[in-house]
Amino acid sequence: MNTHTYTNQLKIDFDGPYLMTIGGRLVDAPNTFEVHNPATGAVVANAPEASREQVDEAIAAAKEAQPGWAALSWEERRDYITAYADALDANKESIITLLTTEQGKPRHSMATTEVDYAIFWVREVAKRALHEEIIEDTPDHVVKIVRSPLGVVGAITPWNFPILLGLWKLAPCLITGNTIVIKPSPFTPLGTLRFGEIAQKIFPKGVVNVVSGGNEQGVWLTDHPSVSKISFTGSTATGKKVMSAAALSNLKRVTLELGGNDPAIVMPGTDYKALIPTLFDAAFGNSGQWCIAVKRLYVHESLYKDFLKDFVEYASAKVVGNGMDPRTDLGPIQNRMQYNKLLNLFADVKSKGYKVPLGGTIDESLPGNFVPITIVDNPPRESRIVREEPFGPILPIISWSDLDEVIQDANNTEFGLAASVWGPDRDEAIRVAHRIEAGTVWVNEIHIHGIDIPFGGHKQSGMGVENGREGLEEFTNAKTYMFRK
Ligand code: NAD
Repeated sequence: MNTHTYTNQLKIDFDGPYLMTIGGRLVDAPNTFEVHNPATGAVVANAPEASREQVDEAIAAAKEAQPGWAALSWEERRDYITAYADALDANKESIITLLTTEQGKPRHSMATTEVDYAIFWVREVAKRALHEEIIEDTPDHVVKIVRSPLGVVGAITPWNFPILLGLWKLAPCLITGNTIVIKPSPFTPLGTLRFGEIAQKIFPKGVVNVVSGGNEQGVWLTDHPSVSKISFTGSTATGKKVMSAAALSNLKRVTLELGGNDPAIVMPGTDYKALIPTLFDAAFGNSGQWCIAVKRLYVHESLYKDFLKDFVEYASAKVVGNGMDPRTDLGPIQNRMQYNKLLNLFADVKSKGYKVPLGGTIDESLPGNFVPITIVDNPPRESRIVREEPFGPILPIISWSDLDEVIQDANNTEFGLAASVWGPDRDEAIRVAHRIEAGTVWVNEIHIHGIDIPFGGHKQSGMGVENGREGLEEFTNAKTYMFRK
């Protein structure tokens, strides 16, 4: 029986202070660091910077809580997680405002969608279970496979979807009987600290722990011998460090959701006008700070000129601004580091003399990290804007004529996260999809996710998957029992 109590009166103070959660306690740290509003540059709050001892304590608390948590039935864990979804729901409006304030995405659109989607995810994942499988059952022998939890999971998240990606890890980790220590990005720790705080009202102590800080705290998690798995979402460069530290410490399991440079291929004869809003959102949603954003848009030469003109016209009506303003379509870049990377990429586009029918110049006099919607007209295949993951509101649109060549171009990258193919001939588009090297390929639709749909990158876009039965299994070991009858 699940004995926790929960009421809708649960109140969390969203003004601060922001505290970590370790072993069921809310704790401060010896040092703090500033978290900035990317739309204004103002300091939103000071977040605790966990000491090494505190990270160790969080791991120890998770380790102590894990056997008791794993001993509960799937239904008992489901009840806790469902109550947690209710508690998140009761605090939803404040979480959305906090997300816009620290991350920048528009409150009325992307931020609301992210939080709604995250809560939905928690609720739905709670209903999943991994049942034992009988592999062999003969008159004298039984073989069965049971999925057993790994133990303590370290979850390390990035700054682009901090609420969604944190809860995407928490729910499957807990339902499978593990406990968790979450370390959010230093750029967006506040929402995660808050959802950790909410978790203390629901779960037994030590089941959910949150420690904030810089990158070092992530290293301490990946190095720790009591952590059995790292579930990581972030850049490919950091993913490699995580994997190597995980291997060297104690052969931790890893799931790595990394960078992408997703191509979209528009085939001849496509009724592209109807697609422009979808393709715009797919490329520029979250100001392009999206692992699965369309980052290279290949349009057949027969459509190219008209497509470019119409796309630019549609995009020029969109508003970049403060995410708290309901007129804003795209918020600022989340942090100065990323903004500076974009300044460098924009300078490259300018110095190479590529055609830029929209945007192209960042106004550095603004207080926030605002970057204009920018379209680059047919840059060379080997240009930086085509080869790199910009992670900002800049999109190269490229004309193609030969199908084999465009497929080769689409695959000519170390990334393999996702892709999309658009065309009137569905069978032909599906044949193209089969030839794209990516973990997810959409045909005539994009950015569909589901609780039961595994998601993960090929090549250097990742290792393993999240979601689906396969994603749940990654939080477990397969344990084989054989019984003589
Ligand atoms: P990042 O790799 O810089 O940081 C991610 C997290 O790792 C942060 O919490 C950071 O503090 C931590 N970290 C940094 N160094 C570490 C180390 N050595 N050991 C352990 N942890 C460490 O990534 P970011 O800039 O926050 O996020 C942007 C990247 O994330 C982009 O490349 C994007 O494509 C990718 N991303 C991928 C997915 C996906 O599902 N594939 C989703 C969102 C973002």
